[in-house]
Amino acid sequence: MSHGHIEITGARENNLKDVSLRIPKRQITVFTGVSGSGKSSLVFDTIAAEAQRQLNETFTTFVRNRLPRYGQPNVDTIENLSAAIVVDQRRLRGGTRSTVGTITDIYALLRLLFSRAGTPFVGYSNAFSFNDPQGMCPNCEGLGRTRELDLESFLDRSKSLATGALLHPHFNVGSWYWKIYAESGLFDNDRKLEDYSEQEWHMLLHGSGTKVPLTWQGGTINSSYEGLVVKFTRLYLKKDEAEMSEANREIRDRFTHSTTCSLCGGARLNQAALGCTVHGHTINQLAAMEATELRRALAAIDDPVAAPVVATLLERLDDLITIGLGYLSLDRETSTLSGGEAQRVKMVRHLASSLTDMLYVFDEPSVGLHARDVQRLNTLLRKLRDKGNTVLVVEHDPDVIEIADHVVDLGPHAGTDGGEVVYQGTVPGLAAAPTLTGRHLRQPLRVRDEVRVPTGWMTVRNATMRNLRDLTVRFPCGVLTVVTGVAGSGKSTLVHEGLLGQYPKAVTIDQSPVSTSRRSNTATYTGMLDGIRKLFASANKVSPSLFSSNSKGACENCQGLGVLYTDLAFLEGVTSPCEVCQGRRFGPEVLRHTLRGLSISDVLGLTARQAREFFTARSRAEERIREVLRSIDEVGLGYLTLGQPLSTLSGGECQRLKLANELHRDSAVYVLDEPTTGLHMSDVGRLLEIFERLVEHGNSVVVIEHNLEVIGAADWVIDLGPGGGSDGGRVLFEGTPAELMTAPESATGQFLRRTHG
Ligand code: ADP
Ligand code: ADP
Ligand code: ZN
Ligand code: ZN
Repeated sequence: MSHGHIEITGARENNLKDVSLRIPKRQITVFTGVSGSGKSSLVFDTIAAEAQRQLNETFTTFVRNRLPRYGQPNVDTIENLSAAIVVDQRRLRGGTRSTVGTITDIYALLRLLFSRAGTPFVGYSNAFSFNDPQGMCPNCEGLGRTRELDLESFLDRSKSLATGALLHPHFNVGSWYWKIYAESGLFDNDRKLEDYSEQEWHMLLHGSGTKVPLTWQGGTINSSYEGLVVKFTRLYLKKDEAEMSEANREIRDRFTHSTTCSLCGGARLNQAALGCTVHGHTINQLAAMEATELRRALAAIDDPVAAPVVATLLERLDDLITIGLGYLSLDRETSTLSGGEAQRVKMVRHLASSLTDMLYVFDEPSVGLHARDVQRLNTLLRKLRDKGNTVLVVEHDPDVIEIADHVVDLGPHAGTDGGEVVYQGTVPGLAAAPTLTGRHLRQPLRVRDEVRVPTGWMTVRNATMRNLRDLTVRFPCGVLTVVTGVAGSGKSTLVHEGLLGQYPKAVTIDQSPVSTSRRSNTATYTGMLDGIRKLFASANKVSPSLFSSNSKGACENCQGLGVLYTDLAFLEGVTSPCEVCQGRRFGPEVLRHTLRGLSISDVLGLTARQAREFFTARSRAEERIREVLRSIDEVGLGYLTLGQPLSTLSGGECQRLKLANELHRDSAVYVLDEPTTGLHMSDVGRLLEIFERLVEHGNSVVVIEHNLEVIGAADWVIDLGPGGGSDGGRVLFEGTPAELMTAPESATGQFLRRTHG
């Protein structure tokens, strides 16, 4: 039965080469292809962007002016689109008020349950909300924690006002705030604070009311006096977290400490709400339970008044559990979730929606999921489809590709060598296709049978953090170790808190952004730009600083960035190319200077792979540049341009770029968390080669990973489980991958065995 197609004609975003294709509606279409082949450019930058744009067009001008403006994607036409919902791995923000319960709306259902069936009856469901004045604890305003000014770090009691007793940078001697105290006439400016009388102390910290005439920039201004504690509280503690600048937040954290609220004990709610129970449980007790445990507690409620709400609650919790998040509690703050967990939490919210004929777009939903949980993920993707939605998935995991109704394979390679549809059709067709994806789907899984001998051991003793059950675990040195286990079993805790806690010299190479500065790009981060600037300088007999993005020759409009950023308060910012320099970053004076025919702007536009062919001279300087470029290419990032802002890199790409920077060092312990994220099967082989090189150089590599190919390549496997949260935290297996295949208790072993055939 056909429901029509989304018809795309002439897509040319980024590297797409005039791509035209049809995507069946109300089916699951999986997009495959090596990293950099153009999957995101097609799915996110073209299809989802156009859906958003067309939706925005339907709003009134009033609303439209308040929405981010989506540029028209570079495509001739897209027809038959539906409204799109992008479910990606972007971390969930929203501060401390956003929890798994609030973001999935499951907590709202719990509140409803309490307002209908609670003893005693307390009020409407708002009375149980920590984000509503009716329900929140009056002391901490629903945050569960309170912050206090830390006087020890704010004041130096051995000094006087005149000699700088106020340590906060905005209260420095001579500043406006300082004058309020020094010119108030209330204090002896030369007396040390430790010599203040009781009364002076009180005035300094809590006083108020008096008017102080301040001299400021030649005139006199009347300001009202406020004690330090009063002022600091107003400036830093009463402000909404989300409205504070990063700098102010830093200052606040430096001069305050936060403690569990003394009134609610961290439960966030007022005493009326905390005194109300359903079936003997308070709402905060239920919110603190793991989802699986909460499900059991709710299923035991036999009150007919509660039955309809309980039924809905069980359904939602089942979604959460099915997707492998049964170990999370509703009160878990969303800011502490990993990218993969955040994406699955968002998915649960959408599963509950009764909208149909939507377009759902997923970015590698298998991230962070054990092979066992991937099967559950598939169940939910099918459920979304069967509700009448079109589901688009960018994915590398063969187990997810397998459930596609339709596959679109992009390639043949990355960057300018990609951007074409190399196969579209069924999964069996893909497995027989002559594309990189097809070839790798046919390749049998390899499991290492000759493992390397460790050069020593690092022992983590008696680890009891989070869900770990007093674990003592040995990590071998000088080999590749893979830590496996279902999501929530304790892998990150064991490695990041256990191993790194006891062996702090180990280097973590994670997926966090490489840099938050907009000026950083591939060339600056790897240190290669200095060398390139010097080459340009000596070829043209000018100063190297001329080629810096903060030189006088840089485009003034975009300050040498080539693009302009528009910040939007609560939404993702928007970028647009600079119209003055056309994205070239520099003015004509600088662009006039060339190196073997290319301007600095041209060089920044080269991909790392192209640059390897450009910097071929036999000088020391170019050799150094070549070495860096080779590392970048070896980690599979040869398609990045030298000037590509690091802010455009995905988590996986950041991780590999960091890895590239480490490739030529010796004797260290490297820790990586799911490095195959965003990697095509053919790139996984390359990553394994990098691990080989690191190990051959005497390094120890410890990797948390679900990818069976990586597990098969390990010298040593540590498998945690059996479940997540309180069902996990135990070591199920330690040994070689060949031995793992025969371990009876390990789900990882089962999947390895099944795939190995
Ligand atoms: P995939 O999703 O298959 O990994 P992408 O669509 O992200 O591939 O990238 C395709 C090509 O477009 C790559 O060469 C990539 O470097 C380039 N590209 C993607 N986004 C940008 C951007 N914002 N600016 C410049 N180049 C980009
Ligand atoms: P894995 O890496 O195997 O997915 P984790 O080590 O992240 O597992 O988690 C182990 C347990 O610790 C889980 O129950 C998880 O919910 C809990 N946990 C992890 N991080 C936090 C956190 N920041 N706050 C509260 N609980 C956490
Ligand atoms: Zn409180
Ligand atoms: Zn410009």
